Amino acid sequence: MSNKKVLCPASELGRDTWIIGAIQADGVVRFIGKPVPAIAEFRTQANKRGQPEQYFRFASACRRHDCDKWKEGACSVAGALRRTVQANPRLKEQEAPACGMREHCLWERSCGPLVCRACRYVGSDARQRKTVHFCAPPAPGRKERAA
Ligand code: SF4
Repeated sequence: MSNKKVLCPASELGRDTWIIGAIQADGVVRFIGKPVPAIAEFRTQANKRGQPEQYFRFASACRRHDCDKWKEGACSVAGALRRTVQANPRLKEQEAPACGMREHCLWERSCGPLVCRACRYVGSDARQRKTVHFCAPPAPGRKERAA
């Protein structure tokens, strides 16, 4: 992964895609540290199983105007995540996950490190070019472990 690349951290699986995390049974993402290239064999097996985005978080080049979340020249998901964390003390006090793509991340670059505190709760319907959604918000009073 070149130092200059800026990637969407909730993309669909395709060529030039990196695996950045696995989605656990409760819907929370466990980041894998250093991103791993989604090689052809992985893509074949994951597509056979169906809907790879239900099981993994992928990163790849931002589609910008070709994505329904690109609004007014920016990724609206990043802004929504930042606002969500600002409004949620439980998220604010969580540690950022040990994510290996921080220096390449479009969300972190555009909206700052606060977005990382909510990122593990984001799932993607990227294949349908639909919503990136929160899948498992923290329960009241429960402090999540860093993923
Ligand atoms: S928002 Fe933060 S935690 Fe999520 S992929 Fe980007 S750098 Fe990693």
